[in-house]
This record gives sequence, structure tokens and C-alpha cells, in this order.
Amino acid sequence: FQRETYAANAIVFRAGEAGEAAYVIDQGCVEILLGPEGDQRRVDVLATGAMFGEIALLDGLPRSATVRTLVPTSLIRIERGHVEGLLRQADPVVQYLVKLLLGRVRSARTDGPPLLGLIPQGQDALSELDPSEQLHNAAVRTLSLAQSLSDGIRLGQLEVHYQAIVLLSDHAVAGFEALVRWRHPVLGLISPDEFIPLAEKTGLIHRVGEFVLRQAVADWAQLRPLCQAGTGHIPFMSVNLSAPELCAPGVVQRIQACLEAHQMAPEELHIELTETIIISSVEVVTHVVQGLRNMGVGVALDDFGTGYAGLDYLQTLPFSCLKIDRSFVERLPNGERSVQIVKSALALSDLLGLSTVAEGIEDAATADLLRSLGCTYAQGFHFARPQLCQALIGPGQV
Ligand code: C2E
Ligand code: CA
Ligand code: CA
Ligand code: CA
Repeated sequence: FQRETYAANAIVFRAGEAGEAAYVIDQGCVEILLGPEGDQRRVDVLATGAMFGEIALLDGLPRSATVRTLVPTSLIRIERGHVEGLLRQADPVVQYLVKLLLGRVRSARTDGPPLLGLIPQGQDALSELDPSEQLHNAAVRTLSLAQSLSDGIRLGQLEVHYQAIVLLSDHAVAGFEALVRWRHPVLGLISPDEFIPLAEKTGLIHRVGEFVLRQAVADWAQLRPLCQAGTGHIPFMSVNLSAPELCAPGVVQRIQACLEAHQMAPEELHIELTETIIISSVEVVTHVVQGLRNMGVGVALDDFGTGYAGLDYLQTLPFSCLKIDRSFVERLPNGERSVQIVKSALALSDLLGLSTVAEGIEDAATADLLRSLGCTYAQGFHFARPQLCQALIGPGQV
């Protein structure tokens, strides 16, 4: 997304031009003008939060109105290609609704009064064509949150925190998992669960992921000495990768270049993939996982047990590690059934020659139980919370 600023009385676009972008008013207001140049009449005024120009953007027809600013105005510009990408990924119901809506707009254009190609904020003659106001508001919220995430990345508001992964036998630190956070100037620290899905939907995930990988690899020189696990355990840094990142061309080469730039041994990097990644494209996933493994990088199947693809892919993809999801670990104290489930995950992992990390250990009893079941590694608040590199290495040790 791009922000564009206009002075008062500036033309945003003219009737007849190609519609290459839609706009959300970030600040200011615009008027919508109809009619031939020199004899235009104002048919609407739109203010902050309103979107305009999206119909021409979607159906490719020329703009049917001219838009001019009334005061100095800041607009968020949404490119056609971006919207097309979103639509392709959208829920089939959404795709259908958009199609339906466009069909109605087109026929109204030919038999009815001229249409603006706008979704106005208030109710008016076009309201029959509007998606519900709620839908509209949700879209505007998503777009403005995406805009502020995009700004946040540029302004350095992302942080990487590191959570230790320990050996269950003696609680020695074996490695770390890099976990991203967004330090929003107004909203405070925002959890990745809140912005990663948005980042994935809008393509911002590539910038988020690039930042996390670079930061984690750069911090490794300082964190590596904190790993205490003895012989036979290569210290490691784990980094999460989302489906769109994994499917981006050249991902293996980029990871390799990053490792080389910081002289980090490939064996010391683990990439964590969830089962959902795997639904994307078997060929691509297989190719990338194999490429990473060939380079020496470890690949972990994250959140194991939460998706249905796990078992299938454990067989076909050369993972090196399996992470048992917190939801199973959490239920361990509940009795024999949960114990059996974790036991079979451990047996499976063992059979395939993988190392196993149990996630989300919050108390000593669960840690002891997991150790007695034969699990090697653990991660959880009982051992350590995610922390900034500075906090982990302590003051004065930089
Ligand atoms: P995840 O990969 O399963 O990461 C583990 C999550 O469990 C982290 O949440 C961690 O703080 C939390 N956790 C660890 N131990 C405990 C515990 O004992 N109890 C409880 N209740 N929680 C525990 P976090 O940091 O909020 O991250 C959430 C998710 O966001 C991650 O789940 C991961 O899927 C995603 N994520 C985080 N950083 C990145 C990133 O850089 N890139 C991508 N693509 N996704 C990321
Ligand atoms: Ca993870
Ligand atoms: Ca996990
Ligand atoms: Ca998770």
C-alpha cells in the first residue's frame, strides 16, 4: 500500500481514465464530479474512511467520474494487482458476491442512470448495490491496519523475541525460537497471532519474514554462547516461515545468502513450518524443504497434531524435527488418554528418526512426565518466556 498526499483542489482521477487503483481516504475529503469537463456537477462528498474507485478497479472499465480533493487530503492507494491477488485467495463465497455485485453494477450502468464506481459511506441511491455497511467497515479496518503495519515495518516497530528450547534431561538450553512482536506506538505490544494472518493476507508477510530471519541470524552470534546442551546437540535458532514465504521463488537462496552474510552454519538454523503450509502446493513445499535439508538447514513440523495433513507429510517430507502442539501438552494432566496421544507422537517421531520438542510446558509436573515419556526437548513458560536478545544476554555483555 502506498499513501498519497494531495493539496486542496487536486484531481485524483478523471472520468474516462483507466482504473488502476482504488483509494481509501486516510485524512481529508474529496468531491465526486459527473458530467463533461467544464460543466461538472458535484454528486457526492466523501470523507475519512470512505473508499472510492474500486468498481473500475475490479471490472477494468474506464472511470465514470472525476474525483477532486476539497482540502489537503491523504489517500491510501490500493493497486489493482493487489486486489486481484486478494480476490483470488478469497473465500469462494466472497468471490461469488463480488461477481454478483459487479454484474449488477454493469447492467445498472447500461440501463440506469450513470454510476460512479463508488461505494459511498452514507445511504443514497446506490445503497442497493453496496455490500453491507459492516462488510465495508471491516474492509476499511483491515486496509488501514495493513497500512499501519506496513508503516510499522518501515519505522522499525517490529521486534524479535527469543524463547529458549531446553533439554528435558537437565534443562540445559539447546536453542531458541525467534518470535516476532509489533511494538505499536499507541496500542502497545501486539502479538503475532493478531498481525501475522493480516500480513499473510496482504503480502506484508514477506517483509515481516525477511526482517525476522535477518534479525535472528544477526543475533545468533550473541545467543549461541547461551546454549549449554552438551555433545551431540548442535545449538540452533528456529525461525517460523509462513506458506506464502515458503512458496516465494528463491526462498532457499535467500536463506543461504543470509546465513553466509552472518557466517552462520546452516545446521544451526531450523525452519519451522506448520501443517497448514503444506496444504498450499505439494510440489513447491517438497522442493523447498528438500532444498533446505540439502543445504544442512533443519526443518521442523510445527504445531503437530492440529492439522490433518501431518501424518501424510511426515512420511513424504524430509523433516528433521517434530514439535508437539501446546494443546496436547496442556491436556497431559487430564489423564491416560492424553498421555497415550503424546506417547504415540513420540513413538512416531522416533520411528522416523526425528528429534521432538514439546511446546507450552507451564509446570514442573508436565516437564517430568514428558521426560519420562522420552521426549528430548521442551519449550514453555516453565523454562523461559520469549525475551529480547538484550534481556537474555544481560546488561554489560554486549
Ligand atoms: P508458534 O510457532 O507455535 O510459537 C509458540 C507460541 O507459543 C508463541 O506465541 C509462544 O510465546 C507461546 N508459548 C510458548 N510457551 C508457552 C507456554 O508455556 N504457555 C503458553 N500459553 N504459550 C506459550 P507467540 O509468540 O504469541 O506466537 C504465536 C504464533 O505466531 C506462533 O506460534 C507462530 O505461529 C506465529 N509467529 C510468531 N513469530 C512468527 C514469525 O516470525 N513468522 C511467522 N510466519 N509466524 C510467526
Ligand atoms: Ca513455531
Ligand atoms: Ca508451535
Ligand atoms: Ca502455534
